[in-house]
Amino acid sequence: MTLPLPPLDAHAHVSPDVPAADLTSLRAAVFAVTPSLSEWQRAAGRTDELTAWGLGCHPAIASEVESFSPSAFSEALDSATFVGEVGLDARRGAAIATQKEVFHQVLEMLSERPRLVSIHSVGASGQVLDALERYPQPGAILHWWRGSTSETDRALEIGCFFSLNAAETRRPKVIARIPAERVLTETDFPHTQKHDRAATCPGVVEMVEDALGQAWALDEWGVRRRIWANLATLLERAQSTARMPLGIRKGLLVASVS
Ligand SMILES: [Zn+2]
Repeated sequence: MTLPLPPLDAHAHVSPDVPAADLTSLRAAVFAVTPSLSEWQRAAGRTDELTAWGLGCHPAIASEVESFSPSAFSEALDSATFVGEVGLDARRGAAIATQKEVFHQVLEMLSERPRLVSIHSVGASGQVLDALERYPQPGAILHWWRGSTSETDRALEIGCFFSLNAAETRRPKVIARIPAERVLTETDFPHTQKHDRAATCPGVVEMVEDALGQAWALDEWGVRRRIWANLATLLERAQSTARMPLGIRKGLLVASVS
């Protein structure tokens, strides 16, 4: 059955050189994160109908964090559709103090110019929440969240959204704890292929949607509509709807009347 709304992948890694036709053939709305300013710059001129390109500084890549330029990032932010991937990684990358300095600078810029922001938090859930308390973000999406129960409650209180992938369905930690209105779907392509063999490209979120359908007692269309309604709320909060590519804005319209 073809649903009136495409699947939503709120966090995937896609090469900025990928042909537009390949993205179109995914038939999915994809938020493509980048690890660095230079990669974002390669994607910045693209006009893909259903793919939004994020401006990122990946916390696990030491060279990116250590060479972070606030002025260059700030300039890029003006035209950025959304921000990602940013955050903290206590297991890899630059010294955590340096990562925090960069993450705080990014969040501070976003306090003035809100965007959807896809946040990495490996081994640093509490520290990410500390930062979000200090610099509140209307568009915060915790991606692949593995925080404890109390940290999850704290994240909910701050207003965060969560993008869940197949790993969460294989080893559920938060799916039952997060209200349906705070959930988005993602693949984190290519990193979750080991949890979902079907996820051989971005946008394949069927396994997550199935798990959500069971948790929420909704059919496929009910889940899809819920996810798009959540995206609409988040975009509105972060005043970012107009920044979205045309195909995503069309989807938001469909979601608003369905
Ligand atoms: Zn990622």
